[in-house]
Amino acid sequence: MESGDGLLSRVNLLGGRLDAGQLINLADWAEELGAPTLEITSRGKLQVRGFSAQSELLFTRKLVAAGLARETAAAEAARHVICSVAADIDPKALHDPYAIAQQLDTQLSTTPALWQLPSKFLICIDGGGGDLAYKNADIRVDAISSAKGIAYRIALAGSRQSSVLLGYCQVQHCVDAIVILAKEFLSINEQRKDKATRIKQLLNDDTLALFKAIVRDMLIEAQLTNTEPTSTKLLGQQAGWFGFAPPFGVMSSDTTRGLARLAAAHGHNEFRVSPEKVILIPGGRSDLSAPLKALGMIVTDSDSRLSLVACPGAPACLSGSTATRSLALTLVEHIPDLFDGELRTHFSGCPKGCANPQASPITIVAQQGKFDVIVKDRATPLNENRRVAQNLSTEELVMRLSTLSNTLEQARRDDESLSDCIARLDIEQLKIDLNT
Ligand code: SF4
Repeated sequence: MESGDGLLSRVNLLGGRLDAGQLINLADWAEELGAPTLEITSRGKLQVRGFSAQSELLFTRKLVAAGLARETAAAEAARHVICSVAADIDPKALHDPYAIAQQLDTQLSTTPALWQLPSKFLICIDGGGGDLAYKNADIRVDAISSAKGIAYRIALAGSRQSSVLLGYCQVQHCVDAIVILAKEFLSINEQRKDKATRIKQLLNDDTLALFKAIVRDMLIEAQLTNTEPTSTKLLGQQAGWFGFAPPFGVMSSDTTRGLARLAAAHGHNEFRVSPEKVILIPGGRSDLSAPLKALGMIVTDSDSRLSLVACPGAPACLSGSTATRSLALTLVEHIPDLFDGELRTHFSGCPKGCANPQASPITIVAQQGKFDVIVKDRATPLNENRRVAQNLSTEELVMRLSTLSNTLEQARRDDESLSDCIARLDIEQLKIDLNT
């Protein structure tokens, strides 16, 4: 893919799995052939930037030789599946879906009929631990506990909560059900003039009936005993792993090698890279907080940097005119009270808002070194009234956000979070704070 700083390449890690040697190789190859940085994407892939056409080819050859990519671009691009990264090490997960994901991944990359699926198409396989419950997928299967044992809930177009339920199937029928639904999507899409890139775009009463009919024979009656995700906490010491997050999901090659060596020094060779942009060290029983912090990693849920979502901005992206991540870290330093690790603040290098297409409590959109502030909306707001400040310099932005932080502190009710407080306050009040 073209980007502002050359070509970028994404390494697909099924189930987020890779070992220390592979991690070091990726860091070395990125440094040797592209930009010396690995970045975790929202699908849990590792992305490297800064390639020329020639160096990208060399990088791809190394990936294929190491078993980290399929031999052809079409087969690689067809791998639309993500699955829970911790289901086998999370005592609260219901089922480890890795074998299902492997089988599906192979089918997707070896069945040319499925290579027509749009690049954004996403199939999510959740083992019931809740780590992927929030992911909006086109087809999702979630492990559930039923009176007859573990089964999978099959649904379309959404998160675990928002998706449209088709029914329940046995574990051994998951792959067939997903493949048949993906083929049905292609068949319905084939007949449309305006082609859909996600199932949501073509879902209506008629198409839903078609999707239901096509999997009917695989469905079972399931009396649920547990449908709720039980665990989403990934950072720090957990029952089956130690979790840490690189700020913005980005690690330099030097840091990456340091992480691999650190884990090895504590007897760990394996990593799991999650779409939450958290890396798990399975079985990590020793307290790795201090050495991981020394490498700049986030190890607790209260770290201010977890409040930040930011695209690369300029110069990495052609559409960006302003750096975003360095500004975001500066704001954390200047206004620590506003960034409590929970209040989501989205820094966007342009109005496209790639890093977070959804609404955020606060969104800052950069253009030519100036900043707009949008509250409770997206980078391109659905309602222009929510663009509460415009064209601010960096100094003005720091000042206005400091004022907002003070107001929130005063307005906040007992035990109310900052994001709940913003949600409760009306736009006009927030507008005053951001314009005085
Ligand atoms: S939001 Fe704009 S600047 Fe940021 S990555 Fe997307 S296109 Fe590039």
